[in-house]
Amino acid sequence: MIVLVLAVALWVLGWALATPKLLRWGAIAMLWAGAVLVHLTLPDDAALRASIGGDARTWGAVGVVAALLLAYRAGLAALRRRAAPLPPAPPSGPFAAGEIARYSRHILLREIGGAGQARLKAARVLVIGAGGLGSPALLYLAAAGVGTIGVIDDDVVEDSNLSRQIIHMTDALGVPKVQSAKETLNALNPYVTVLPYQRRMGGDTQSLIAEYDLILDGSDNMATRYLVNTACVAAGKPLISAALTQWEGQISLYHPPLSPCYACIFPHAPEAGLAPACAEAGVLSPLPGVIGAMMAVEAVKHITGAGEGLAGRLLIYDALDAQVRSITVARNAKCPVCGVGS
Ligand SMILES: [Zn+2]
Repeated sequence: MIVLVLAVALWVLGWALATPKLLRWGAIAMLWAGAVLVHLTLPDDAALRASIGGDARTWGAVGVVAALLLAYRAGLAALRRRAAPLPPAPPSGPFAAGEIARYSRHILLREIGGAGQARLKAARVLVIGAGGLGSPALLYLAAAGVGTIGVIDDDVVEDSNLSRQIIHMTDALGVPKVQSAKETLNALNPYVTVLPYQRRMGGDTQSLIAEYDLILDGSDNMATRYLVNTACVAAGKPLISAALTQWEGQISLYHPPLSPCYACIFPHAPEAGLAPACAEAGVLSPLPGVIGAMMAVEAVKHITGAGEGLAGRLLIYDALDAQVRSITVARNAKCPVCGVGS
């Protein structure tokens, strides 16, 4: 009886002092533990022991019943939580409700955050070529939440593409690459807009490039690289260009006058046969994955302003020897594309 009165008094006192419920339950649990301790330590005929029941088993039973009641309550609360539908996440800034969770790991990065993710959503990136380099670059640009992605390519998907052009599935054989790429990207991230251009880079290249903030060149031939570089210099657009041969890949960001253009570093196309295309010389299946993903990394960095970009540096990855080198590259004042008098 005394213990019950004390328990009620503790609860009322806790309530009057606005103590948290958990603390009040804790105080009552300590009172119970004290009563059990009295029974276990004092002799049978002790007056205190007789006044609070006299039998440790009664207090043990009280404890078991209380524990069962608490477990029942906790179980019921858990069931209710599971049954209740999760409230939809409120849209924040330019994002739809489903995008916040999708980009949460990006938003956690100090260098990107919500502001950087919003920049990615507002960005327009044009990818030249939906092949080996374009595939991983496109996939990661879409997954990362780049809002508008243009892709230009005039080829259809062939058997020999499938070992490394991972944006195209086997059932896309014979389908234009830009269409196959758009379908994969839409399935990966329905919140980004994909604009396919099924054509070769040609006379209208410059007007197309002018519509985008950043250009990624993953084409497989020198002629296209020079064409894209010239158009980017004329339009003042930054260009991330990469290339592959067998076991080696290279990548840089070209943006004169801040850094060289592609023609500053490679003023002349190599003699025929010295830089054979992948179709002639072969290429390691995952190599475009590494370099294409690097293109996406540098694109995200460029758009969000995170870290040090590749402007003025040519990064070379030698897969066969597992070596990565970075070469400093400078502008050529006599560059036929961006130099003085060009
Ligand atoms: Zn140049």
